[in-house]
Formats: sequence, C-alpha cells, structure tokens
Amino acid sequence: MHSGPGSISPEGMSLDRLRPRVEECTKCPLGRTRKHAVFGDGSPAAKVMFVGEGPGEAEDESGRPFVGAAGKKLDEVFASVGIARSDVFVTNVVKCRPPNNRVPAKAEMEKCFPFLEAQIALINPSLIVTLGNVPTQWLLEGAPGITKARGRFYNWRGGIQIFPMFHPSYLLRNPSRAKGSPKYLAWQDVQQIRRWMDGRVEAPLEEAALRVGDREGASAG
Ligand code: URA
Repeated sequence: MHSGPGSISPEGMSLDRLRPRVEECTKCPLGRTRKHAVFGDGSPAAKVMFVGEGPGEAEDESGRPFVGAAGKKLDEVFASVGIARSDVFVTNVVKCRPPNNRVPAKAEMEKCFPFLEAQIALINPSLIVTLGNVPTQWLLEGAPGITKARGRFYNWRGGIQIFPMFHPSYLLRNPSRAKGSPKYLAWQDVQQIRRWMDGRVEAPLEEAALRVGDREGASAG
C-alpha cells in the first residue's frame, strides 16, 4: 500500500494500537468539537468493510459507528440478507462528527485518511462497500455520482474491489419500495454483496469491474 506523507507505518501496528491514536487525534478541527471519535467496529479479519461518511450525533455520543437512525436502517439492510455486524467491519471516512452533520471538508478527510488506510491495511478486506457519495468519491476519484456508481464492482488497489451503494440515510428519506426506487435498488445491491460473500457472483470480478482513477494515498501532511 502506498505510503504517503502522514501515512501510518504498518510496522508493529494493530487495530488495538491504532484505536487510541484515532481516539486521541486532534489533527483537524473536528477533534475539538467531537465528544467521541468513532474508530469503527466489527471483525478484525472481515472480508468486507462498509465505509460511511462520518459519525452523526448518536455515534458521537456513543463512540460507535452507525448506531443512530441511519445505523438502524443499515442493520435492517444487513438483516435482510443475514449479514451480522460481527461478520464485517463498519467505519467511516472521518472518525469525528462534523458539526451539524455537515459533509466533511476535503482537508478533514485528508487528515483522517491515514487512519482509514491503516484500517484497510490491517483488516485486509477483499471488498469495500462505500455507503453514499462521500466515501465513493473519496476512494474512487472520478467515479460518477452514486446513482450511477452504485451496484458495480470497481478495481481498487491491492486487488481490493469497491462496491458503492446508497447511504442508509438516503433510504430513510426515500421510503418507497417501488421497482427502481432507492430502497429497491439497495435491496438488489445488498443481495449482490451477499452473493459475493457466498462466492456466488457469476461474472469474474476482473471482467465485471470498471476502472476509475483511484486515490493513491492522500497527502495528509
Ligand atoms: N452516518 C454515517 O455516515 N456514519 C455513521 O457512523 C453514522 C451515520
């Protein structure tokens, strides 16, 4: 994995050692307004990681990812195909809550990216599911908007595939289950993830994958 400025040396690193570095980080202004940094949780050996945007109020209060309304929706999506939180690893692009749940600033994502990169390096997933536009655009620079990008496998670095899907908050705002609705499409997508987890994705991923410019390490200076 690329070692850019600010990247975290994998030497002697573990998730348990990384966690306090995240929890104590004050490298960007979000570190001054958060209550708790949210490291992420799940299996340290997960084959699939889910990456959201950043903690909201409930996550900031508890220090755990996706525990508020969006988290309950994510749990419903998982339950629909029998995914347990303990089967996967769930985290965010930024580990601290942006005030009023605004979109994280580019500089904040840049400062925080070494943590996500280190998590990816340590967990070594084969698939990263990006939830919504922010993590999708962050990891797959140049990807189309989420409506177009979702539901496809993209080659990323180190043989990892990225599969974007709608953010659960978007599903909360769009409750229709009609054919073609965001919920309908998200259900298709999570079934595709389930098939992938079960080794039942028909097309060889390399052939199915699209290639867009990936982010080769952010300068986190
Ligand atoms: N939304 C996110 O993107 N992440 C969370 O952890 C919670 C809500």
